[in-house]
Amino acid sequence: LKLEPVDLHDTLTDLTHLLNRLVGERVRLSVSHDPSLTPIRADKRQLEQVIMNLVVNARDAMPDGGEIRIQTAQLHLEDELRRDRASVAPGDYVLVRVSDDGVGIPKDKLIKVFEPFFTTKGVGEGTGLGLSTAYGIVKQSGGFIFVDSTPGSGTCFTLYFPAHSQGQVEHKPEPD
Ligand code: C2E
Repeated sequence: LKLEPVDLHDTLTDLTHLLNRLVGERVRLSVSHDPSLTPIRADKRQLEQVIMNLVVNARDAMPDGGEIRIQTAQLHLEDELRRDRASVAPGDYVLVRVSDDGVGIPKDKLIKVFEPFFTTKGVGEGTGLGLSTAYGIVKQSGGFIFVDSTPGSGTCFTLYFPAHSQGQVEHKPEPD
């Protein structure tokens, strides 16, 4: 684990080519950015794995094709946010949202998706480690991961990462 300042805009830009290959021809991938994004503190490689994992799940939820949207957003939380027994402290966050218009996850399964070994996939298809691993990686950055889903219309994962305030931009000294 190597926590360092990570620019999510750059990370996603670097990944786009690979993600487009992962989703195949029937699925469209769109990425939109908040231009005012601040860095976060994360392990870049692990963060990439989380995004790839969410995108592959989204793809698999759309066997007949569809669209996956990745959006970033800068959020200032004025008040504590309470959700799923979690409490997100007030402050500045970088959000990443991965949404699809696929089959969706039924409500009784939604509360379990971050548990180890839980899978909606058939025997031999999923390892069941994907989302709990994603959860763990997000936790290591002090972040949160939430899921919204409507069966028949789609699923949306939202990741909250605390903005990394110190040393916002790490410029190398200009050679003189
Ligand atoms: P929980 O899953 O039973 O976790 C209880 C406490 O165990 C957590 O308190 C946290 O201190 C620790 N913990 C659990 N999993 C991890 C992990 O992967 N990494 C680390 N570092 N610590 C972990 P906390 O944070 O106050 O959360 C309370 C409850 O809020 C959690 O109960 C869970 O139900 C929910 N929650 C917390 N974070 C998230 C999140 O990012 N997404 C979702 N959907 N729920 C969350």
